[in-house]
Amino acid sequence: MEPGNWNYSIFWKEANNQIQNSITDQEFQMWFKNMNYIESREARIIISVPSSFYKDQVTQRYLSMIEGKLLELSGQKISIEIIIKNIRPAAPEKKHQPLKSINPAAFKKRKHQQLNQEYNFERFVRGENNDFAYMASFAMAKNPGKAYNPCLIYGGVGLGKTHLLQAIGNAVYQDFPELKIVYVTAETFTNEFILAIKENKGHQFKNRYRTVDVLLIDDIHFLPGKVETQEELFHTFNALYDANKQLVFTCDRPVSELKALSDRLRSRFERGLNVDLQPPNYETRLAILKKKIEEKKIYINNEVADLICQNIKTNVRDLEKALTKLLAYAELVDKEISIDIAQRQLKDFFSNHQGKNVSLELIQKVVAEYFGLSSVDIRGKKRTKAIVYPRQIAMYITRDITEFSTTEVGLAFGGRDHTTVMHACQRIEDRMKTDSMLEPTIQNLIRNIKEASL
Ligand code: ADP
Ligand code: MG
Repeated sequence: MEPGNWNYSIFWKEANNQIQNSITDQEFQMWFKNMNYIESREARIIISVPSSFYKDQVTQRYLSMIEGKLLELSGQKISIEIIIKNIRPAAPEKKHQPLKSINPAAFKKRKHQQLNQEYNFERFVRGENNDFAYMASFAMAKNPGKAYNPCLIYGGVGLGKTHLLQAIGNAVYQDFPELKIVYVTAETFTNEFILAIKENKGHQFKNRYRTVDVLLIDDIHFLPGKVETQEELFHTFNALYDANKQLVFTCDRPVSELKALSDRLRSRFERGLNVDLQPPNYETRLAILKKKIEEKKIYINNEVADLICQNIKTNVRDLEKALTKLLAYAELVDKEISIDIAQRQLKDFFSNHQGKNVSLELIQKVVAEYFGLSSVDIRGKKRTKAIVYPRQIAMYITRDITEFSTTEVGLAFGGRDHTTVMHACQRIEDRMKTDSMLEPTIQNLIRNIKEASL
């Protein structure tokens, strides 16, 4: 072969054929159909994928598999170089008209009855806390029923679960007009089901839900204890799943922590991709706040934006609330918001969120409820594993978000010694290092506690 005249396309083709036989059809459609052979260079093949999302995923999932196959087939090391090439025309430049992107009329978007059009991908600010959930949601919207199915998005209150879930619905509604999309909260699903049974319209209910192409159910943490509804959802799930329909759920915690959920429904939720949303870090909070400021066409100086983001760390909903409060004030008095004004106006807000108003009883109550126990259990003497662990978590949280001393905490937890409290906190810290689920659980509990203390 002449220098500069390499052609490995035949190996690429054969590697694809062989890999197709060793992975599922769904995977092949999703990933390999989106890779395009571009050309060969010395010891490498250049392929293109539609976005950096695909690039990352393909690299992680298949790169070593493909290169291994190429080596096997050609007897030489051929590496893969992935470039991004968007097949669709680039989106129109929107920079100078930021508000157009949120003005539905301007784009003549179709409006789905159950969906809020403002919950779309363009308005969702990405950060490391939410990026995987965002990418998975985006992939589902582009390939409903094929990319990830089922999918569960979980995370604490105000972190964007409903926003992402509805963004999937909105995007599918634009791009696949023929698909039937249903968005419903688990609570509404439950109420509709109960009503249908009462009115002898079970059949209609089944018809409505089993003919859906994309089923989006929000807040499934509402389901525990609702035995018949769970049963119905289980059958709905199976019918849709078998027909390759897209199923997406949200939950305020990992499914493994939902009590009173039937095992078979739990295993369905856990079957597919489970992705979490974490609280945003400072940079992401600032990016989100700036986006909201831009969307509202208002002016807030950087110092004030910084003050808000430094102090409100809980979730995006709280950031929005703070902004709304400042705006209401600024409109009322008709003057620019200075740092002093912001500090004064948001004072309660900030202190609440530092946990100063949180009582020991409230922490015990929230933690106990979360684990299906009573406050008495948490404070009491029992030392069974099912109680000791939640008790240690409650102690840890108390030390983390309040100013109570270990002695005071010990007293409030059934008159225990302060060394017991220290030991409990140490145990939880150690455990967090090995159990990656624990920290999100604790953050989630802290959010619930703060929310309940407002
Ligand atoms: P959840 O359902 O998890 O409680 P929501 O989806 O209702 O939270 O989000 C709360 C608010 O915060 C909504 O107004 C939503 O648009 C906004 N929000 C959440 N995450 C983001 C984000 N990453 N970028 C922009 N807005 C966000
Ligand atoms: Mg929600």
